[in-house]
Parts: sequence; structure tokens; C-alpha cells
Amino acid sequence: MENTSNFIKTIIEQDLESGKHHEIITRFPPEPNGFLHIGHARAIITDFESAKQYGGYTNLRYDDTNPEKEDDIYVKSILEDIRWLGYEPKNVYFASDYFEEMYERAIVLIKKGLAYVDHSSAEEIAKDRGNVNTPGVESKYRHRSIEENLKLFEDMRLGKFKEGECVLRAKIDMASPNMNMRDPVLYRISFAEHHNTGTKWCIYPMYDYAHPLEDAIEGITHSLCSLEFEDHRPLYDWVVRETEMPKIPRQIEFGRLNIENTVMSKRFLRQLVEENKVIGWDDPRMPTLRGMRRRGYTPEAIRNFVVSTGLSKVNSTASFDMLEAAVRDDLQDHAKRVMAIIKPLKVTITNYPENKIEYFDVLYHQDYPELGSRKIPFSRHIYIEQDDFVLNKPNNKYKRLALNEEVRLFHAYFIKAYDVIYDDRGDIIEVLATYDENTKSGSGFNERKPNGTIHYVEKTHGYHATFNFFGPLIIGDESMDLMDRFNKDSWHVEHGMVEEALKNAHALDKFQFMRNGYFSVDHDSKKDHLVFNEIVPLKSSYK
Ligand code: ATP
Ligand code: MG
Repeated sequence: MENTSNFIKTIIEQDLESGKHHEIITRFPPEPNGFLHIGHARAIITDFESAKQYGGYTNLRYDDTNPEKEDDIYVKSILEDIRWLGYEPKNVYFASDYFEEMYERAIVLIKKGLAYVDHSSAEEIAKDRGNVNTPGVESKYRHRSIEENLKLFEDMRLGKFKEGECVLRAKIDMASPNMNMRDPVLYRISFAEHHNTGTKWCIYPMYDYAHPLEDAIEGITHSLCSLEFEDHRPLYDWVVRETEMPKIPRQIEFGRLNIENTVMSKRFLRQLVEENKVIGWDDPRMPTLRGMRRRGYTPEAIRNFVVSTGLSKVNSTASFDMLEAAVRDDLQDHAKRVMAIIKPLKVTITNYPENKIEYFDVLYHQDYPELGSRKIPFSRHIYIEQDDFVLNKPNNKYKRLALNEEVRLFHAYFIKAYDVIYDDRGDIIEVLATYDENTKSGSGFNERKPNGTIHYVEKTHGYHATFNFFGPLIIGDESMDLMDRFNKDSWHVEHGMVEEALKNAHALDKFQFMRNGYFSVDHDSKKDHLVFNEIVPLKSSYK
């Protein structure tokens, strides 16, 4: 990861070489109004890796300038998620800790004749801004005297005005081709309680004013952000310059990361949670870091995926396949390989003695003996997958069990089916088979080739388990409303069996269920009610 170059690192290297900076300081500035998603991972990785590579550091700064929407739950979860992803901020700051300094800097602007209190309504301000083709109209309050503005701004702070009655605006250029420069609002009034400062303040700085100051106060050298802030950069520079901040940060934009069939808007994700379409922010279908963790994605896989998408100056949409491939790559060398039956079909091996049990000692991963081994039981009563049996072998490509066909059971014996039992509805509920004791695994038997190899779980030692399978969170085309695109069939449940070795599995333990896929233990899983989430199917099944 460290060795990949990108346009941000190029700038940083130039700044170090020219002596403009001796230490690189970046920040990750989330607004604590939701849980982090994989798009944020792109920003986190970019912020942390860009500084780390040059021996610098990164701050976590909560951009909490919006009291109506923010909450301490999010404050806590954001730091946990950053740590889970593998990063440790040097400092944890709150934008709200700088409210006093921001206020002082606003007074600097007023004194320079660069800010004024405007009593126009929000609608008037919006209308008078004009549009890209028409210059804006100056507010009738634009030419208030410095003394009057100082007094009015102080009155705003003292709570003498109602919400919406007036704002503080920058005096820049109402005819600027950049709409952000047409006297943007710097402060608004809100009597909402703030999660950090309570009721101390009733004026709150707007993002475009607050953000550059936060960066400058912390001595951030490179303020990395997503592309939508590109048009705001002139204002960013204006604020830092005109408030006379001693340290000048540089804003650099990068493209946002999107993933197909996924939406990374906190607003939409919150709506899914609030309307109970999903079971929470950590629903395994959610593109949140919590959701991905619960599903079983690892931080390494997420980091590798994000890095593999490349950092670019344009927004990009990655395929879900790419994400799944990164997850598989990471799991294939770490996950223990075990047997689980998703849709069980009973098999009775009628020439195997009742009450006899034997055990096979099997490594969890043939290539990684250090992952250990366990004993797999075998008896007269086993389960196989419903999909691994048909009455009559349809063609020579079919390599599973059928009547009068012989298959190898992984790590055990060859069995041959000779009859089936039906229920009242005519469905097959049991297969009768025989085994050949000469074919025992490890015996070197090679006189016959079986019709494929399938997995099984011994009945009396197996554990019942619930398996959750997930599909895309949204489907349909982009012209549709997001809520209508929610995929109602995105969660599918099966009830089956797993081998005994899984009975003590802990939440988030990950396994490869042979011939099925990778699964992670859900955090609601218990010994007498095991629950597994499918992380990702195997790329190529043996079927
Ligand atoms: P959302 O649009 O999901 O609400 P946001 O941009 O409002 O996200 P913030 O809390 O403001 O969320 O984000 C913190 C940082 O993460 C910002 O610098 C933002 O640019 C970055 N970020 C958010 N989403 C993405 C994304 N999909 N790709 C890259 N960076 C992102
Ligand atoms: Mg935002």
C-alpha cells in the first residue's frame, strides 16, 4: 500500500523537498451524524496513509458544527470504526472546541469590512444569489458600517435575535462566476442543544467557514477531501487568508468511491434504519463499516479493495465483484475449512453398524497446518446437501450422488446410493446407501474412481445452524426513487447443520464452508442457536 504513488503523494513530496513543510499533518473530518461507510474508508485510508508514509500524523476531527443532527452515539462509533479499520488518530478533536476562535476570526473579518450581518430572509438570500448565468443582487444590508456589524454580531451571539432573523455573511463578490463566492453565509442562529457545547452557543459557523479554520488551527498541511468540495476551494483559501490564520493548509480533492448496487449516502442509510427496512446500521447488507464487519469482511480486505480501486481525481464506481474478490483473497489463507450442510438431506448408510462412531483427524486447512485440526465424526446417519443428490444421473458432467452412483465423502468413505424414501407429498426425504470400508480416506484406495466428492455432516454430532444469505441492497435503474429500489429479497435464510467443531465458534469467527462459501459467525449466535452470515460465495464451486 505504501509504495503506490498518486497525485496527492506527488504534491506532498514536492512540499517536503522545497522545504514548504517539514512534517505532514492530515485530518479525517467526519460529521458525527451517522455511521461510517466504505466511502469514508476511502477518505480515511487516503488521509492516514498519506501522512504515515512521510512520518507525519493524522487527526480525527469531528466536524460538529450542526447541532440539530449530531449525536454522541456517532462520535463513539466513528472512532471505533477507524480503529477497526486499522488506524489510530494522533489527536481527537472537535470543531466545536474552536467556536471561540472562530468567533474571534469572524470579528477580524468584520473589522476588515469583509463580513456583515444580513437581515434578509433565507428565501431572499437564495433568490438574490442569482445563478450561473445571472450575477447576484447585493443585499440592502451589505453596506452596514463596521461598528453596526460588530454590535449586531455580538447581539446574535447574545441570543437577541430569533432563528432565521439574520445571518453573518462574507462580503466577497456577488457577481463571481463561482456561486460559493457570492457573499456566502458564515454564521446562522440555532437554539438547538449541541451535543458538546450544550446551550453555550446560539450561533453556529457554516461548513465553508468552519472547515478551513479547523484545518488551519490544527496546522493541517494537506486537507484532503472528496471532489464535491473543488468549487469551494476558492472560498476555503479566502477564509484562511482573510482571517489571517498563521498556518495555511492546502485543500486537495480526490474522487469519491461508489460501489454498484450500493448507496453511500448517510441520509438514505439512516432512512433505511428508521423505516426498519434493515435491522440497524450494522445490518450485514449495509455498506457501513459496521455492516461489513458483521457480514464478515475483514479490515485487510476492505483496505486492499479501496487501494486497488486507485486514487483518482474523478469519482469512480467499483464493481461489487471487485470487493468480493478482495474479501476472498484475504479469507482464503486465513479461514478454517469446515463442513456445513445448508439444505440437509438425510442419508442412512445401511451396512454401517448402528451406534458405531469413528473419527477422522483432519487439518482445518491443508496448506496451513498451523491453523490446527479437529476430529470429524462419521456414522450410519449423515446429512448431505439436497443439491448433491438426484435420482438418476443426468449426464457425465454430473459429479454428485445419484442412484447406483458412488461418491467420495470428504475425509471419510465412498458411499453408493441404492434407494430413496419419500414423504406423503412425494418429496425425497432420505437416501439409503452403502459404504465400502476399503475406501477409507488415507488408505490409498485407488481401484475405482468415484463420481465426485461431496461433503457431509454426521447427524448425532452435528449442530443445527441458521445461515443468512445476502443480495444487493438496491436494485432497479437509477431513475427510480432510492426507497423504491430497496431490494426486499436481499436477505434469505436457510436452516441446516454444521460440524461439531463449530459449536464453540465466537462472533466474527470466519470459516470456509467447503463447496459453499465463506461464512462469519453472527454476533447473535449462541451454542444452542448458531447463526452464520454468508460473507461471500466461493468463486468457483466444485459443482
Ligand atoms: P455522506 O454523503 O454519506 O453523508 P459525507 O461526505 O456527508 O457523507 P462526512 O462525515 O462529511 O460525510 O465525511 C467525512 C469525509 O469523508 C469527507 O471528507 C468526505 O469527503 C469523505 N467521504 C464521504 N463519502 C465518501 C466517498 N464515497 N468517497 C470518498 N470520500 C468520501
Ligand atoms: Mg457531509
